[in-house]
Amino acid sequence: MSEETTVRPLVDWHSHVWLPEHLGPEWGPELDSHYTHVPSHHGTPAEHRAAMDRSGVTHSVVLALRSRHLSLDVPNEFVAEYVATDPGRLVGIASVDPNDADAPARLRYAVGDLGLRGVKLAPPYQDFHPHSDEAYAVYRAADECGAVLIFHQGAVSHRRGVLDHAQPVLLDRVARDFPELRIIVAHMGQPWPHEVVPLLRKHPNMYADLSARCTRPYQLKGILLAALDYGVQHKLLFGSDFPTFDPGEHARALLSVNEGADGREVPADVLDAIVHSRPLSLLGLGA
Ligand SMILES: [Zn+2]
Repeated sequence: MSEETTVRPLVDWHSHVWLPEHLGPEWGPELDSHYTHVPSHHGTPAEHRAAMDRSGVTHSVVLALRSRHLSLDVPNEFVAEYVATDPGRLVGIASVDPNDADAPARLRYAVGDLGLRGVKLAPPYQDFHPHSDEAYAVYRAADECGAVLIFHQGAVSHRRGVLDHAQPVLLDRVARDFPELRIIVAHMGQPWPHEVVPLLRKHPNMYADLSARCTRPYQLKGILLAALDYGVQHKLLFGSDFPTFDPGEHARALLSVNEGADGREVPADVLDAIVHSRPLSLLGLGA
């Protein structure tokens, strides 16, 4: 009798596919300079599928991304085409830029015609304020067509990213005005996860993913403990942010968070340098 193996579900709530030409003149080089372990061209559908298979990912949420501000566009059609190759495992999320006058219409098309299930918005990448009229037009369209909203509501490393629009607490008003909308705060709103915790607590339809947090074990452990403190741990979602991070490695890092961060010490030379090696000349204020 053959032994039956049970496959445990593993949903990657945050992943990307793209081709180099989608990333534009700024963002591709930006990714390459920050994530030297993985070149930005490493994000094709074939590579995404291979990463899922070797990592035991049973379902993957795949995001488009469009930003006029940074001249990048991972098209909704491209994501939809990939999702259509394996609709049982893949869930596609569109991206529209609220700065486009036709953004609400693009979203309705992406959901109604392309079969995508939600929309990714990224105020610091797209340079829009989450409370602007343009953004509210997109939220209304999402509400009407039942789309999930995924917000990159957190910092970005890109020099021209707009952190004025980035803080997670700005989503409180959005969730109050659209109580039925399902909202996912990507990357747990890094580096402001403590703003996300009270949002998760007060808004029944708000969730947060832990994508790209697993390489920062101390922060990750702080997030998990804060979520436990407030009783919102059931609203945390696993995510990898593939291709920047591998889903299997990310899952292993999450499962071993207690080993990674426990007892971690700040190196003595770092402490010493903070106390003794910050001369006024650092900011041009003296010797
Ligand atoms: Zn991402």
